[in-house]
Amino acid sequence: MELTHIEHIGIAVKNLDAAISYYESVFGLRCYAVEEVKEQKVKTAFFMVGQTKIELLESTDAEGPIGKFIEKKGEGIHHLAFAVKNLENALEETESKGIQLIDKLPRKGAEGLDIAFLHPKSTFGVLTELCENKNNK
Ligand code: ZN
Repeated sequence: MELTHIEHIGIAVKNLDAAISYYESVFGLRCYAVEEVKEQKVKTAFFMVGQTKIELLESTDAEGPIGKFIEKKGEGIHHLAFAVKNLENALEETESKGIQLIDKLPRKGAEGLDIAFLHPKSTFGVLTELCENKNNK
């Protein structure tokens, strides 16, 4: 498979507005998008750093994945996302190498990306996302 770059780093936060203001006032970054992803029960905010994004994730439901994550581990880095050239092939290859997939097939994530997660049990504890931006083609 071909990884092109770190697409984004997902960070779980309790309060999106407070976290946005931290990244803006301390680092001088500009939040360029806020988007709710209903099926993931999150509100996301994005910043660009070079070609990598910071994706802040605030839970909209305590029972959602980010709500549960924060309850268990507190705020902090939630996942690492690699951009890949061909997501379907990358997933097949990953599975053939014995890695446990959370998503066997790509699904839609924030910003219209096709995304899929690998299970942290198989990835040395890092919830890993592979994503492909098909909008740019
Ligand atoms: Zn992500």
